[in-house]
Amino acid sequence: MDTRYAWLEEEWRQMEQEATTRRLQAVESCGEEQGKWIRVEGRRLLNLSSNNYLGLAHDQRIVEAGTRAARRWGAGSTASRLVIGNYALYEELEQELAAWKKRDGALVFANGYQANTGVISALIGRGDVVFSDRWNHASIVDGIILSRAKHIRYRHNDLNHLEELLSQHEHVQRKWIITDSIFSMDGDMARLTSLVMLKERFGAMLMVDEAHAGGVRAEEGQGLCHEVCVAEKIDVLMGTFSKAFGVYGAYVCADQEIIRYLTAKARSHIYSTALPPAVIGSVLEALSLVRTETWRRRAVKRNAILFRQMLREHGFMVGDGDTPIIPLMIGENELALRYSTMLIERGISAVAIRPPTVPAGSARIRFTVMATHTHAELKWAADQLAAIRAELMHADSGHVDQRV
Ligand code: PMP
Repeated sequence: MDTRYAWLEEEWRQMEQEATTRRLQAVESCGEEQGKWIRVEGRRLLNLSSNNYLGLAHDQRIVEAGTRAARRWGAGSTASRLVIGNYALYEELEQELAAWKKRDGALVFANGYQANTGVISALIGRGDVVFSDRWNHASIVDGIILSRAKHIRYRHNDLNHLEELLSQHEHVQRKWIITDSIFSMDGDMARLTSLVMLKERFGAMLMVDEAHAGGVRAEEGQGLCHEVCVAEKIDVLMGTFSKAFGVYGAYVCADQEIIRYLTAKARSHIYSTALPPAVIGSVLEALSLVRTETWRRRAVKRNAILFRQMLREHGFMVGDGDTPIIPLMIGENELALRYSTMLIERGISAVAIRPPTVPAGSARIRFTVMATHTHAELKWAADQLAAIRAELMHADSGHVDQRV
């Protein structure tokens, strides 16, 4: 063995003991029934793992729009947007986004990770204070670290705690509150109306990450801020095209002063090549479908409620809610992995989420439903899960809590 990397071996062994190692698995096909079924390592699996909430990733209208854009504009954008990569397609998309969100302007980013790190580190700096929900996405956390601001995490959705922390920092001139709108690993929702009240009372600014709510909530899929009618009060609305839109990329919408500033200052925007034309072409088509095909939003909500109900009928502990992210809390990493492996053996893809993505002791199976899942498919999956629990309890009586 090469001793130069002995320290990595050591860390890897530690990770193995904690059941936190990860490896890549090849998805051999994914287009069957619009992405509902995938083939992984020779097995055909019902896909309960993707963020393709509206079932748009394989929509031929979106694929064709991307193909047309590539034919007209080429395969790559050849430079950063501030150099010569700013094809007219980008401008068109940003105008459409601003109209959809009813905000002054929009700026597109390569992906959600780069949007959050770029926007947060540009707008927020040393001497500022950021109040961030403890369960916010890693890209928000990394953005705050990059910003060098004081980073204060409030207990998840605990606005009394946030209020207390804000009062302790009343003297600070620039304060930001940042939250996911739908939390990515728990599927619950931020208390946006109360957050807006706090922001106004304490003179703070508020940024909301709508990655999992975009396309899924509000009349035209604008997100949770629009659904609860606070969108115009949010300083920075961020969202992605990688989930309900079924494509790739991300954006922020805000007042013109903020967009102009970010265009000149956000490092992930300045120092990275513009997204390929095919992606923008596909996103433009996806945006039009997200706005108009409202049956998809209704269907994903119906499935979200239905699958929770089915799991509860089998005695599983799942919280209330109507978002497409449904965590089944397991606790131990190893047990979560066993569930996930056994689900695969029975033809279902649902991943075990373990630390550091979630806090220690809260490993879970994260199910996500799509608009296109049928009642029969969801019922079959819930039945399989109950059979697995029975099998595990039989094999290891007493160890597996029957209510997991
Ligand atoms: N924010 C949240 C809440 C997310 O869940 C994710 C993706 N998992 C991102 C940002 C990053 O988005 P992207 O995948 O487009 O980089």
